[in-house]
This record gives sequence, structure tokens and C-alpha cells, in this order.
Amino acid sequence: MIRVGVIGAAGRMGRLVCRAVADDPDLVLVAGISPSLDGEPLGPMIGRPKVDVVISDVLDTLLQAETEVAVDFTTPSAVMDNVRWAIDHGVHIVVGTTGIGAAQLDEIRGLLEDEENESHVIVAPNFAIGALLMQRFAAEAAPYLPAAEIIELHHDGKVDAPSGTALSTAARLAKARRDDWQGPGGESVPGVRGGEADGVRIHSVRLPGLVAHQEVILGGPGQTLTIRHDSMDRESFMPGVVLAIKQVAMRKGLTMGLEPLLDLPPLGGDA
Ligand code: NAP
Repeated sequence: MIRVGVIGAAGRMGRLVCRAVADDPDLVLVAGISPSLDGEPLGPMIGRPKVDVVISDVLDTLLQAETEVAVDFTTPSAVMDNVRWAIDHGVHIVVGTTGIGAAQLDEIRGLLEDEENESHVIVAPNFAIGALLMQRFAAEAAPYLPAAEIIELHHDGKVDAPSGTALSTAARLAKARRDDWQGPGGESVPGVRGGEADGVRIHSVRLPGLVAHQEVILGGPGQTLTIRHDSMDRESFMPGVVLAIKQVAMRKGLTMGLEPLLDLPPLGGDA
């Protein structure tokens, strides 16, 4: 049994992660951290009254509960402190919080290089398998249809923009396509053509009613190809989160994304 503690346990994602951990026969939920609900029983909050965990507002509770794997679904401003704490205390950490930039990833790599370190880290901006496949399919099409733009759509509680998934999709498209494509940039209303990452336009939509959605539209003469993924429910992320919890102890250093954890063939299907 892997002992798991969830940081951000009372959040939208955190509650579902707590429940997925509680329901998995190979995992045991031993701690939950949420600053505003210190002292509250976690079990009733996640619909699992038998879970005997009291929410805490201090990370040291994870140590007292002998946590082997911490899971972070908090905020872009909180996540790095939690990762530093986990690495400092030899606790593996699975990070779902988005908004971690390249400089912060470099910092994590640097911290993990310390020979004394026993902690492993998985950072995945999207734990939904369908979202991963959407990115792969878009990258596969990019050499043939280099003109592409990304539209990502999320609920209005999401604080970062663009999404981590959109940024990683842009990087994959830029790497896969044979020719650059800029497209026209003229704007009479500032920002209307979206932002640009790795030379790819990204448009971020934030609305109540949405969960997490993205489409990549690739265009060529007389045709378009749209590849779209929809997370209609946050349950879509849980199998990926549970997989990462189970694998993190076996994966030294920093693992980026869900892809290395899955037995997927190389792009092009020519394994
Ligand atoms: P949320 O509902 O706002 O929950 C955030 C949680 O973080 C709250 O429980 C909050 O606790 C806690 N928190 C804030 N500051 C903290 C700190 N310093 N230490 C410990 N806990 C702290 O957010 P959400 O919708 O669950 O999303 C959380 C993150 O996951 C976001 O970055 C989102 O983009 C990301 N996300 C990732 C995936 C993926 O597949 N990787 C999927 C969906 C969402 P209090 O309320 O007690 O302050």
C-alpha cells in the first residue's frame, strides 16, 4: 500500500484525488492539506466517511502521517513551495497544478541533482489520456499541415492562461512541423489574434460551464483538420493521477507529462 497525502485536498481537483486514492486498493489516503479547512474531517467531504483523516494547514502533517507520495493540486503561487518542501523531506511528489514555467522546472531539476535527494517528481499539466492523444495526433498531422492554431477553453476559476496543455501542444507542433507558419497578425482590437508560444497562436477562452477543452485546427488549401478533446468531468484526470502516484517511486529525477508512464508507440506508429 502506498501512503498518499494530498496538498489542496479540499479543492475541486483535490477532493476527487482524495476519493480516487481512498477507493484504490493499492493506495491509502493518510493526509490532506488545505489552509482554510484546518481541523475539518476529510472523509465526509469526499463522500467516504470511513476515511479517518483530519485536514491540516501545515505540510509537516505529511511527515507525521508517513506520507510516501504527495500529490499537489493547489495554485501556481503555492506549488513551488510545496515541491521544494517535498524534495527537502524526501517525499515523492506528483504535481498536477498548472502554470509551472521553464525556469521553475530547471529549479526542480537542480534540486533533484543533489545526491542526498531521495525524492522523485512527476509534473503533468494534463492527466487526461485523451488530451495526451489529442496532442500526439496534432503533432502527427503538423508536418503535412503546418498552419495551425490552438483554442483552449476552461472554466472561469482557472487562474493561469494559456493552459499548460496549450503550451506543450504549441511546443510539439513547432517541433513536428517542417515549415514555420505565422499567419496574419494585424489586429484592430488588441489581443484578438491570441498570444503566441513557440510560433503558434493560442486563444484562451474562460467561461462558466466549461471544464477543460482544447482544439487544434490545422489548415491547408481547401481543407481544415480539427482535433478536439473535451474533459466533461474532472473524473477524466483520475486514472492518470493514480497511475502517476503508483509509478513515481520508480522514476528517478523529474518526469514531465503522462506520456513516459504509458506504453505508447513512437509517433508515426512505426514502433
Ligand atoms: P481549486 O478548487 O481552487 O483548489 C485549490 C486548492 O489549493 C484549495 O484546496 C486551496 O486550499 C489549496 N491551496 C491554496 N494555496 C495553498 C497552499 N499554499 N498550500 C496548500 N494548499 C493550498 O483549484 P482546482 O480547480 O482544484 O485546480 C488546482 C490546480 O490543478 C490548478 O492549477 C489547475 O489548473 C490544475 N489542474 C490540473 C489538471 C491536470 O490534469 N494536471 C486538471 C485540472 C486542473 P484553500 O481553499 O483551503 O485555500
